[in-house]
Amino acid sequence: MNKSAFFEQQKACPVCQYKFTVTRVRSSACFVIERDTDFSVKYRDINPLLYSIWVCPNCQYANTDREFNEPLRPNELERLKKGLALLRSEEPDFSGERTTQVGLRSFELAIRTAQIRQSPAIVLAGLFLRAAWLCRELGKSETEMKYLKQARNLYQHSFEKEWGRQTAKMSDSRIMYLIGELNRRLGNFEEAVKWFSRTVMQKSIKNEPEINRLVRDQWELAREEYKKQQSDKVANTVQPRESQPPEVPENKKDPEPPASRKETVPRSQSRGSKVKMFLSLYMDQVEWLKSMANRCYDRHKVFIEKEAVARGILDAVMEALPELDDFKSEEELKKMLSTKLMD
Ligand SMILES: [Zn+2]
Repeated sequence: MNKSAFFEQQKACPVCQYKFTVTRVRSSACFVIERDTDFSVKYRDINPLLYSIWVCPNCQYANTDREFNEPLRPNELERLKKGLALLRSEEPDFSGERTTQVGLRSFELAIRTAQIRQSPAIVLAGLFLRAAWLCRELGKSETEMKYLKQARNLYQHSFEKEWGRQTAKMSDSRIMYLIGELNRRLGNFEEAVKWFSRTVMQKSIKNEPEINRLVRDQWELAREEYKKQQSDKVANTVQPRESQPPEVPENKKDPEPPASRKETVPRSQSRGSKVKMFLSLYMDQVEWLKSMANRCYDRHKVFIEKEAVARGILDAVMEALPELDDFKSEEELKKMLSTKLMD
């Protein structure tokens, strides 16, 4: 543990009065490397986000360092005492240095606390968004998407219905931009474009150069992604047999940027053209493929279709395990595959 970066403080839990030690990070020890388009910040060495939630080791009350000591109203206190005792769970030690995993867990407990307390939507939205950032760091894209979706719903609810949201220090342009960007990350490009265009109409945006720049970049991106999604939809629709033969060479119509073309073209050429196949998948499988494709875009700014992700997986399985023959159902195949993958 890098001692000079951390310091300790004694705190008292506002729910059960238990006294415990929290580990805090000196701001001088934090170096920003880059900022993501949903305001997630990447740090070198120490991520202060991991230490921003304090958790009472006695009753598991968890809240941000800024609001931990906020006085609780009598009805909130009563709800928290009952609710926390009821939901009590086995938890890691939150003192000392935290891993990203432990940091994520602290946010999940803060979400649980805020839900029991019935905190405003804007507070919960911020917690879900930060939990999603930590999932991103851990590569847990499915949970990241789940949390981003919660954050999007809560920000939108807050924006449309919550009075006194101003106290959370988020301007209208900022929250509108964020709703747009979360929609874009969730693959709702049309909705994203709508929110971005609303953001640009805000008069106050001139006073927020960061939002003004971000919204224009992301608006452009969402428009491109929307166009691509629409053309994918058309390409994925099964053509009636009379009007269209099933073998449609795809090489010419893929509007993929050169980076990904370089890898896919030689392979698909050597194997002939792709064949359209109507495939029914479960929603979570589609979401997973989509999130994998999005990850590729987020990391390398290269478009990969979810079909390409599925093809890559199929190829890998075909190469690694050419003979999979002893199964009688989808479930058995999955089990057998899982066992082989673990070998
Ligand atoms: Zn406590």
